Amino acid sequence: MPQTIADAIAQVRARIGSACREAGRPEGAVMLLAVSKTQPAAAVAEAADAGQRAFGENYVQEMVDKAHALAGRGLEWHFIGPLQSNKTRPVAETADWVHSVERLKIAERLSAQRPAGRPPLNVLVQVNVSGEASKSGCAPEDALELARAVACLPGLCLRGLMCIPEPSDDAAVLAARFGTLTRLQAALQAEGYAVDTLSMGMSADLEAAVAAGSTMVRVGTAVFGARTYPQTEAPQEGSTP
Ligand SMILES: *Cc1c(COP(=O)(O)O)cnc(C)c1O
Repeated sequence: MPQTIADAIAQVRARIGSACREAGRPEGAVMLLAVSKTQPAAAVAEAADAGQRAFGENYVQEMVDKAHALAGRGLEWHFIGPLQSNKTRPVAETADWVHSVERLKIAERLSAQRPAGRPPLNVLVQVNVSGEASKSGCAPEDALELARAVACLPGLCLRGLMCIPEPSDDAAVLAARFGTLTRLQAALQAEGYAVDTLSMGMSADLEAAVAAGSTMVRVGTAVFGARTYPQTEAPQEGSTP
C-alpha cells in the first residue's frame, strides 16, 4: 500500500495514464474523481493538497458537511449515491455534479431547486447495465428517453451517463457492461446531444472502463485506503432534520 494519500493519488493517476496509452487514447482523456465517502474532511484536505480537485460523495449530509468544512478551496463536489426525492434540495444547492439521476422526478426537483445564482447542475443519467444484479439506475431501454427529458430541464446540464456494473473478474463481462453505456452515449451524440462524460470505472475495474471509453473514473479505496467504517453504518439519508 502507498504511504500517503499523495502517493496513492500518484499511483492511481499512473494506472489511468497507462490504461489510456494501452487503449490508444490521449493522456488526460480520463478525469479522476476521488470518492471520499466515509473519509474525514482531513483526508479530503490532504488529497486537495496533493492537487486533487473533484470529490465524490454518496450521502447527502456527509457531502454538505465536507463541502462547508472545505469551502474556499475550489473543490468540486459530485453526488454519486442513491438520491431520495425528499433529499434533493441540499444536493441541488451544494453539488457541482450528480451522477445518479435514474428517474425524471428526481431530475425535475434538482432543476427546480438549483439556486438561480449558480450555473446549471451537471448531471449524468445512471443506467443499470447489469440487469437484476444491481438495483440502481434506469433500465438501458429507458435511458435515452430519460436523458432527452433531463436535457430539457433549465436548471440542469446533461453531461452524459454513469454505471456501476456488478463486480467481476471476467474481462468479457466488464467489456459488455461498459460497452452498453458507451453505445447509449453514442446514440445520444448521434441525436445531437453534446454529452461528453462517461462516468465508469472504480478501484477494481478502471482499466476495463478506460478501455471501453470512460472519461471519468470514480476511485475510493485505491486513493484513501479501506473505508473507515462500513457503508451500512454511514449516516443514512433522512437521518438529519
Ligand atoms: C464507493 C463508490 C465508488 C468507489 O469505489 P472503490 O471500489 O472504493 O473505488 C465508486 N462509485 C460509487 C457509486 C461508489 O458508491
